[in-house]
Amino acid sequence: MEKQELSAPFIGIVRHRLATDGKGVTTLVAFHSCPLRCKYCLNPQCLDPEKVWRTISTGDLLNELLLDNLYFLATGGGVTFGGGEPLLRSEFIDEFCRMKPAEWKVNIETSLNVERHHLERVMPHINEYFIDIKDTNPAIYKKYTTRDNTQVLDNLRWLMSHDRMAEKVIVRLPHIPNHNTQADIDRSRAMLEEMGVKNFDEFDYIV
Ligand code: SF4
Repeated sequence: MEKQELSAPFIGIVRHRLATDGKGVTTLVAFHSCPLRCKYCLNPQCLDPEKVWRTISTGDLLNELLLDNLYFLATGGGVTFGGGEPLLRSEFIDEFCRMKPAEWKVNIETSLNVERHHLERVMPHINEYFIDIKDTNPAIYKKYTTRDNTQVLDNLRWLMSHDRMAEKVIVRLPHIPNHNTQADIDRSRAMLEEMGVKNFDEFDYIV
């Protein structure tokens, strides 16, 4: 019997992004669902079971993304998985990456707040990681996301223990209104630098 392709729920696909989340032209593929409950969630539809945009199989996703194959090849771009939390769909990403053209880059936007096996499964395929760390202070993180950040920091330490990972990891350090201060962000940055992180994106959440 032929193996059935995996399917996953999505909130959207955005084509022709340039230099926003990965090199070259990228297509953002945004999954539904997230383990966090951020107070200022940027994509609240991914938390609402009623707001699934489409359910797509790996093969159908590949056919859709092939529309931009020439852009990807010409610019060194590819696909960026976001959401929601894409690592919850690690099996889907793994299957998709085994089907796609080898030249396409694969990036991921993640909170890293998932069990380690998800990260292990996708790691061989990922060119760049955009990690939204929120804040490394457990109390600030918990108040903002309602979740614990022990797994986040463990996963990041594990990731950074791999060769040349500093070139692939960009950590987002948001100024979160009513939750953290510049001093908190500086403390997060110092802790992350000790882990070996070199690339940071510090910015303001607009609420
Ligand atoms: S991690 Fe992103 S998608 Fe998930 S709750 Fe926070 S802002 Fe929303």
